[in-house]
Amino acid sequence: MRDEMTVPGWARRTAERVAETRGEGPHVVVTGISPSGNIHNLREVLVAEAVANALRERGSEVRFIFHADTIDPLRRIAPGVPREYERYIGHSLSNVPDPEGCHASYADHFLVPFEESLHEMGMDIEVLRSHQLYDGGAYTDVTREAIERAADLRRILEEISGREMPESWSPYQPRAASGSLTGNRVVEHLPDENRVVFVDRDGNEGVADYSKGEGKLGWRVELAARWKALGVTFEPFGKDHTSRGGSTDTADRMSREVFHYPVPGRYEYEWISIKGQGAMSSSKGIVLLPKDLLRIMPPDALRRMMLGRDPARALELDLGEGFPRFVDEYRAEAGEPYVPFLHLVTVAQTAGANTEVAAEMLRRGGYEAAARDPEKLFHDLQYARNWAGEWAPESLRLRVLEPGEAVEAAADLDGEQRAYLTAVAEKFSPDMDGEAVQDMLYSTAVERGLKPKKAFGAVYTVLLGKKSGPKAGPFVAGLPDEIVRERLSV
Ligand SMILES: [Zn+2]
Repeated sequence: MRDEMTVPGWARRTAERVAETRGEGPHVVVTGISPSGNIHNLREVLVAEAVANALRERGSEVRFIFHADTIDPLRRIAPGVPREYERYIGHSLSNVPDPEGCHASYADHFLVPFEESLHEMGMDIEVLRSHQLYDGGAYTDVTREAIERAADLRRILEEISGREMPESWSPYQPRAASGSLTGNRVVEHLPDENRVVFVDRDGNEGVADYSKGEGKLGWRVELAARWKALGVTFEPFGKDHTSRGGSTDTADRMSREVFHYPVPGRYEYEWISIKGQGAMSSSKGIVLLPKDLLRIMPPDALRRMMLGRDPARALELDLGEGFPRFVDEYRAEAGEPYVPFLHLVTVAQTAGANTEVAAEMLRRGGYEAAARDPEKLFHDLQYARNWAGEWAPESLRLRVLEPGEAVEAAADLDGEQRAYLTAVAEKFSPDMDGEAVQDMLYSTAVERGLKPKKAFGAVYTVLLGKKSGPKAGPFVAGLPDEIVRERLSV
């Protein structure tokens, strides 16, 4: 059973509403995404997961499905994909070759890394590829129904969009011999054989068997048909789908009036933008991939970050300067041993991959509890180091100088500063904690009539090659004893 952290209040309230209209299950929670480019829409999947968990918490049986729209036609090529891929426009994503040759198809090239991240997050989800559902006949009955009721479906589309649909409009898109799903005109339906006769854009006649994935439903119709085909009881939608005249308006009416299937429970979530970049958009190349985010935080922190307090509200992610505060708040909520993230960042960069050195630094800094679990510490250090390397502002990137570099950096110091460092090196002892070192650095400066800024600047210069840095006392106290003595004795 998931705890309070993963079943937030809004998800419980949503599950209650779903249960009011659809009963206590079994429930089918669906989230669907077209793998036509880098998949970044983790918020939708996490909203669905939270509601699925809230339903499970009520004791309902839940099937949680990620419906990957792999049979969808390629509409425009993703950023970075070669221009010659224009010739695949209109072809199913599952039939287009991987632009980099590393996966089975264009669809899988974008889907597989996303799928891996979902598994890395420990998500209890079934990933279904729509081309396989069509191939296996999951859409056969709803497709037949849609073709039979084409006139009603068209009327709904016209009434909601206010636009007249062409006379030749069909809810079904057969695949031509060229591979293209677009521009083919259905001329006859053979319901007993699950086939349509069509004419392609060059005037050639063809036959498509809709029980064998030889075509698909147009996307607005497919949305409603999918609810019935999979028995969906809940699906979240982004604000773009639920706006007036949007795809949910048409799907809701199609579901009730044509497919005679009750509209699933719904949650409308708002978009996520990235500070300094704007709204996430795969066509604009503004994306944050879950796998990159999992390099800097554990799965539950990522859940908390992407959902925010309330996914019905827009959220701006700050992975730079604002990130340490997010991590500190998350850890406090999760009841984890407290080490300020910025301190961990300092430790991680100083100790490198050496967990023992890092644990010793933490103990001396007064963070006993955080040093106790070596495996957790190993991961926490990795997150902190990755963040420092990939997202941190320049001022937080640290590296302790090598002896030769320290001598070079010390050339910038004056006689008073050098004398101060020598005095400090004599007074320093490895049993001092962070506070004691801080006091000693300060009082030594005062004794020698040296301004603290100049004194501390000298310490940062020989240790980090910078004029400023993290709070000096805990930082110096955390460093191995011989490094401190050696670097300060310049
Ligand atoms: Zn690939």
